[in-house]
Amino acid sequence: MQPKLFDTHTHFNFNAFKDDSEETMRRTIEKDVWFINVGAESRTSQRAAEITSSYPSGVYAAVGLHPIHTYDDKLEETINGERIEFITRAEDFKPQFYANLIENSAKIVAVGETGLDYFHIRKFDSVGRNNSTPDVEAYAHTPLLQDKQKEIFTAQIELAFKYQKPLILHCRPLKNYDAYYDMLAILKENKDKLLPKAGVVHCFVGNLAIMQEFLELGFYLGFNGIITFTDDYNQLIINASIDKIVLETDSPWLTPVPYRGKRNESIYVAEVAKKIGQIKKLDFETVANKTTENALRLFRIT
Ligand SMILES: [Zn+2]
Repeated sequence: MQPKLFDTHTHFNFNAFKDDSEETMRRTIEKDVWFINVGAESRTSQRAAEITSSYPSGVYAAVGLHPIHTYDDKLEETINGERIEFITRAEDFKPQFYANLIENSAKIVAVGETGLDYFHIRKFDSVGRNNSTPDVEAYAHTPLLQDKQKEIFTAQIELAFKYQKPLILHCRPLKNYDAYYDMLAILKENKDKLLPKAGVVHCFVGNLAIMQEFLELGFYLGFNGIITFTDDYNQLIINASIDKIVLETDSPWLTPVPYRGKRNESIYVAEVAKKIGQIKKLDFETVANKTTENALRLFRIT
């Protein structure tokens, strides 16, 4: 059985849904949209795993430690008028904790989100102190935090390999695609630990050459609501085969047009499908079917 649409990256397990997650998820499943709740640290990973047990099908989980949860910070930024604020807490990566979650639920379909985020560490100094003024130049002084992220990312590649799970990658460069190049280097060093369908680069915002490298390593590309409010990634989408694209929302953030200003949720993934159809000159049904097939195949959901 195949649903109409598949949101490969959502966060009903986050606080933004603490009052109405069940109701919202049920409504989503009723609309024939399946989804993966992606964990970002131990608490949200555990919550994502627990949620799966209340649904016979359609609700899956990924567990992992996001790179921004490797240090304490208050993240603030504005994307297309949307204010995003987020408190992060430093957490050590405990492989056994995540291994236990995976062993106890058949519906954990991936390890993630994991990866590198250099954008948000631009305000730390050489000893890891947060000087709270975002400064691109300060970036040169953050090797400590970069090294920590790389180490934790590599450990999660190993965890995914041990349990034969695909990876959900988070990669946010600061300048000149820096984090993408470092991530590709780590993935190539660990090539023997990647599955043939290695995972997905969530919220892909790289360039064509970087896209090609991820595809060669066996990764799919995840696109979300960002593509509905900027044309910056149209060339990537035109050049990417529909067989390698999966849809996502990254809800509660990055709400697609025409719902900007509202909290994002998985049913809005239809807007991402529509936009990909416009860009690639494919009808909605084709985009919906293909991307759903891709998600089911990648995450081995039957
Ligand atoms: Zn996310």
